[in-house]
Amino acid sequence: MSDSPILKIAVNVPLSLEFDYLPPQKGSDPFVGCRVRLPFGRREQVGVILGSARESDVPAPKLKRCTEILDEAAILSAADLWLIRFTSDYYHHPIGEVVAAALPSLLRQGKPLHPLIEKVVTTDLAKQTDVEALTRRAPKQAELLEALFDAGGDGLDTDLLTELLPTWRRAAKGLTDKGLLTTFESRAEEFDERLVTPATPGPDLNADQQQALSVLRSSDKFGAYLLDGVTGSGKTEVYLQRAQDVLRQGGQVLILVPEIGLTPQLVARLRDRLGIEPALLHSGLSNSARLAAWRAARAGAAHLIVGTRSAIFAPLKNPGLIIVDEEHDHSFKQQEGLRYSARDLAIARAKYLDVPVILGSATPSLEMLQHCRTGSYEHVILPARAGGANPPTLRLIDTVRRPTTDGISEPLAAAIHQHLDSDGQVLIFLNRRGFAPTLICNSCGHIAGCERCDSRLTVHAGSKQLRCHHCGMCRALVENCDECGERVRPLGEGTERLEESLCDRFPDAVIRRIDSDSTQRKGAMHEALESATLGHANILVGTQMLSKGHHFPRLSLVGVVNADQGLFGTDFRSAERMAQSIIQVAGRAGRERRNGEVLIQTAFPENEFWKTLIEGGYRQISDNALAEREVTRWPPFTRLALLRSAAHRQTDAHRILEVARHHLAARTTETLRVLGPVDAPMARKAGRYRAQLLLQSSDRSTLHRVLRELRPILEKDPAARKARWSIDVDPVELF
Ligand code: ADP
Ligand code: ZN
Repeated sequence: MSDSPILKIAVNVPLSLEFDYLPPQKGSDPFVGCRVRLPFGRREQVGVILGSARESDVPAPKLKRCTEILDEAAILSAADLWLIRFTSDYYHHPIGEVVAAALPSLLRQGKPLHPLIEKVVTTDLAKQTDVEALTRRAPKQAELLEALFDAGGDGLDTDLLTELLPTWRRAAKGLTDKGLLTTFESRAEEFDERLVTPATPGPDLNADQQQALSVLRSSDKFGAYLLDGVTGSGKTEVYLQRAQDVLRQGGQVLILVPEIGLTPQLVARLRDRLGIEPALLHSGLSNSARLAAWRAARAGAAHLIVGTRSAIFAPLKNPGLIIVDEEHDHSFKQQEGLRYSARDLAIARAKYLDVPVILGSATPSLEMLQHCRTGSYEHVILPARAGGANPPTLRLIDTVRRPTTDGISEPLAAAIHQHLDSDGQVLIFLNRRGFAPTLICNSCGHIAGCERCDSRLTVHAGSKQLRCHHCGMCRALVENCDECGERVRPLGEGTERLEESLCDRFPDAVIRRIDSDSTQRKGAMHEALESATLGHANILVGTQMLSKGHHFPRLSLVGVVNADQGLFGTDFRSAERMAQSIIQVAGRAGRERRNGEVLIQTAFPENEFWKTLIEGGYRQISDNALAEREVTRWPPFTRLALLRSAAHRQTDAHRILEVARHHLAARTTETLRVLGPVDAPMARKAGRYRAQLLLQSSDRSTLHRVLRELRPILEKDPAARKARWSIDVDPVELF
């Protein structure tokens, strides 16, 4: 690079620019893909070199120098940088922020790729300490000392300690002063994928599975395969075998899953079947563990990389296959900041790398189904459950004729009894946590609302609180109305109330509630799922969390309480979504030989949606939805981008969108429609007013062209300083 001395650098700031810098006067050579430290405004920043140029628009005297090149060789390869650039272009998001999203946080902070880990260990003197006496005088110190004794001679790394005992540093100072403790640095342990236990073979594939596998094996080059099979049809078995081929040839397999915390079974199964330890990448890891997995993927030391959304950016030395499990799951789409879809990036990345990508689901998104119809993706179907299990039967319970008490109707209660008596397990699904969604006054009808959002407060009985599920605000639960002082009562039900009512009705049953409140404690989720899997729990009550991918062998009855939430949704995706969540949760029933039964409580049993779902299944729902979207011109037949803004004043939230609309007015063509700006469906959230502007286009290139022009205009406009705004390409939620 010596003859083209100006470096083009991505810096983590919200501006769509690459920044020009001179290399440092001395030190390592600057290569594309290396990190640098540089002065930026009044601060130092870490940036990544994207390229170089001979000239700059910045006048020579104003060009600054990087202070330091942080890497001796590129840490991001050309292929990694391709994905970063693609993401920045497609989502119209500043490249510096995309780079930041793609790097583990330690690298983002400028720490070395192979950092030294700070460790803490006890001294010989510590062995003579009277821990009991210390516990009385300095309990925190005693606690730390005990933890270190447990860890033994290798000590504990500080990352882990912070997790175990957040305030350990102060205690450590006390112990160090007494000479009981010292710190030292050691090189981070490298990831090791070898296991002592060999791979266990899976079941022999049935004819459908073999057929599917042979289609997946038809090429080692790019192809997108939608593996569309009913719940329990053996999709995982099929893609595991395909993964094994790739691993045998020395290729790397990247598997994206919605949430690792929810699928410990899947991780265990991968480990078991493939006989190697997967490198995990998800938000529940310590920073150093995350970096270690990232490094192992980059070096090719890990062959199987399993992670959530952001793992799509994991560097791969020998990529061979990408798998997206539960492709339809909305957690693949980031809902803030860089609003990317990991599933869509997986397809783009596979194409660039020229490797196959497998998208698995029992309830595929309409986008993927449409790609199959046009022939750009291959539709691989598994029509029946594997291993002799029957599909669950779905029935409706009309809650107008059979009213519910605390959420449960008599027919549902009778079915629960019957399944418990025959040693079955029951799952009660309600996608609403808390005790009750509303607190209402008996006298004046006033409803407790959030002061910062246009929303109601949810009653949480266990913690005796009223909480806003939108901004997190909480206050003490009251017994009397804020307005008139009369008694208030909780109205409607959440999972907490259901749990209580089930405990009353079934005093002998072991009941476990599984939702984000009950699983906050570390390890609680794992414990709950284990008790569900082993069959220790008789009744499971929970939210969406319970519907995802689990295999509970004894589960025979699923009850869907209040299924009407999505029936009259305003979003064009309401029906698709609701069908997905019901089919997914229904799919937990009867996965082994025992037949599964699904009872759905609804006040609208005559609604066409139910008839379609029960008679035609997801296939019919999705066929109908596609036909409807084609007529109404919604995705996948058109493309959307949503401009959002939020500000303390309503006019400020609208103003930046007016600027956008004004700019777009001149560009509106037959293929581009601009709708709004309007208030967001929830117009006020966390104290900010929210507004939105929807862009809809029947052709992708027009949409992207106008967004490309628009972004820098908005960044420069003074109205942008008074509002938080963002561009959401292919939004999954329109609010
Ligand atoms: P999916 O991923 O479609 O939900 P899985 O691959 O998890 O399905 O399979 C569901 C259950 O059926 C698992 O317990 C699995 O071990 C079993 N299974 C899958 N394929 C077969 C087969 N060919 N023969 C017997 N059992 C099978
Ligand atoms: Zn709120």
